[in-house]
Parts: sequence; C-alpha cells; structure tokens
Amino acid sequence: MGGNGPVGQGADQWHGRMRLDGEPEVFGVGMDAQTRCRHYHQAVDIIAIKHYCCARYYPCHHCHEELADHPVMVWPGRLFDEPAVLCGICRCELGIGQYLGTDRCPRCDARFNPGCKLHRGLYFSTAGSGDPEG
Ligand SMILES: [Zn+2]
Ligand SMILES: [Zn+2]
Ligand SMILES: [Zn+2]
Repeated sequence: MGGNGPVGQGADQWHGRMRLDGEPEVFGVGMDAQTRCRHYHQAVDIIAIKHYCCARYYPCHHCHEELADHPVMVWPGRLFDEPAVLCGICRCELGIGQYLGTDRCPRCDARFNPGCKLHRGLYFSTAGSGDPEG
C-alpha cells in the first residue's frame, strides 16, 4: 500500500490524568459538582483550594486530611500571586491574594462563604499578623 506517513507521533500524548479543558481535578470527600464536600455544603461553599504541599485541589482542609497522607503546608506570602482558589461554579482560578481581597467570584459573581476566611491560616500563610493560632 502506498502511504507510509509518520505514525506514532502526536496521537499518543494524551494518556494519563491530563487536565481536560484546563480544568483542575478536585479531590474531595462526598463532593458535588460545585465542589461542596461532606464537611462544607452550604450554598456558598463553592470553592476548592489548592494545597501547597501537594499542588492538588481540595474542597477543604478536612478533605485533605482524609485523603492525603501528609500534613498540610500553607502557601508562603511570596506566592500569593499563584492561582490556588477554584470557583466551583464557573471553574475559574483565582490568585490567593485576589481571593483574599474579594467575597465573590470575579467571573461568575457567585458569592463565596465569608466563613472560609476565618480559617485562611489553614491554607495560606498569615505572616504579618503575628502567630497563627490553632
Ligand atoms: Zn497536601
Ligand atoms: Zn471537606
Ligand atoms: Zn465563578
């Protein structure tokens, strides 16, 4: 047969757990389609947070505790430009500093749970505000 074009090039590189459409994978316990988990499932509990230790998105620190096999590490302040907060509604990613400075998604206008910021120290460094309390 005539054509012996290049084979085995290009077609094979989408194996494994690649992100599809650029959407990060979220690891949660009993999670719904908008990243509410078993622990936080009010209407406003729609964000997932990427953890510095493993670069994986979890709906909350309890999910990390149950699913990961290592202790949490918080994001250092110098990396607050990194996209590490995922809106469960529209799936856009916010920078840490951006998230901490707003109470709703800049893209879909969904309201975030203001209570999450009360334990921001579980995810993000609180350098500058004294000792992180337990
Ligand atoms: Zn981790
Ligand atoms: Zn959870
Ligand atoms: Zn959104």
